[in-house]
Amino acid sequence: MRKNRIYYLDNNATTRVADEVYEAMLPFFGNLYGNPSSMHHFGGQVQKYINESREKLAALLGASSQEIIFTSCGSESDSTAIWSALRVCPEKKHIVTTRVEHPAVLSLAKHLEKIGYEVTYLPVDNDGNIDLDELRNSIREDTAIVSVMWANNETGVICPVEEAAEITKSKGAIFHTDAVQAAGKVPINMANSAIDMLSVSGHKFHAPKGVGALYVRKSVPFSPLIIGGHQENGRRAGTENVPYIVGLGKAAELAAKNIETENSKVSKLRDKLENGILKKIDNARINGKRDKRTPNTTNVSFKYVEGESILIMLSEENIAVSTGSACSSGSMEPSHVLLAMNVPKEYVHGSIRFSLSVYNTEEEVDYVLDKLTAVIKRLRDMSPFSDEKSAFGNEVHH
Ligand code: PLP
Repeated sequence: MRKNRIYYLDNNATTRVADEVYEAMLPFFGNLYGNPSSMHHFGGQVQKYINESREKLAALLGASSQEIIFTSCGSESDSTAIWSALRVCPEKKHIVTTRVEHPAVLSLAKHLEKIGYEVTYLPVDNDGNIDLDELRNSIREDTAIVSVMWANNETGVICPVEEAAEITKSKGAIFHTDAVQAAGKVPINMANSAIDMLSVSGHKFHAPKGVGALYVRKSVPFSPLIIGGHQENGRRAGTENVPYIVGLGKAAELAAKNIETENSKVSKLRDKLENGILKKIDNARINGKRDKRTPNTTNVSFKYVEGESILIMLSEENIAVSTGSACSSGSMEPSHVLLAMNVPKEYVHGSIRFSLSVYNTEEEVDYVLDKLTAVIKRLRDMSPFSDEKSAFGNEVHH
């Protein structure tokens, strides 16, 4: 038995650091340990590597390097963007976001409500899409910021952020997108965009955990979250995490170079997995619009079974997946994303997110399909509802 091999299909939770990224970071744990702000050459020489990383990330995003601020993570980028908009427009007390955001935005929105802001949470349809007319109607004179995620972490569903940004701009508010699950997976070009701010996290595309970035369009007023030293042009104080910033730059360079070939490989594997599930397992349904998703993600619900039980039994077979978002998987509450999409009650508890990467193989997908089929069968054999099984066919949700 291949007991030590991990079949890792949880890449929306985090990804493996690419070998090239790891190699690129090593000198900064060794000889190149100087502080980039130091006046002497030993420290100062390090600044050039930060600048190079900024260029590389800017290239991935179709941005200019002055528009990139390095942060510690996607959550910091989201918080920085939203607090900045509220500070630069202190008279505006309204925020628009969606019901399906990551907690990095949703929990902040809830906090802002408690301290006196008003928040509109846009609903989504059964496919996970927002309605652009509803967005248009929700923006008011006192709306400081609209924050709509680019790609959903649980379903991979891609939101029409460019259109949403145009609408927001025409109404005079700032538009932010949490692109943590999009960067490196879908083409992004800020040069031809109305998006004002965009969040990125390194560990979702093969850089290490604990480094991120915020894109801020040059013309957009900005107020820093962390005030102190002059780092990041006075926009984010704190001595730079040089090795991780270099790693993020390398990951961005690799993503920019390989995005097309990797996407086509990963989406083929995802489709093989998805089609295999629908063929082999009754009463399974795909959650989210199938044609507008990130290439690596599928969210599948199995009737009559609990997602947590599936996850634990798959984990015993060395398969790593997630029920809903990794950040909320400690709780047994159904995913807020699937609830917002009106996934039927009898399905919503049996949901599993499979998220692949370029490191997965066809052989791994075959292994997962075999084990998953057996796990679902075992769980359904134990289920009190098993008699009903024959009454339902597969449901594919487009
Ligand atoms: N936004 C989305 C959509 C995410 O999926 C995540 C992480 O799961 C975050 C924000 C938070 O990123 P980080 O873990 O880098 O803080």
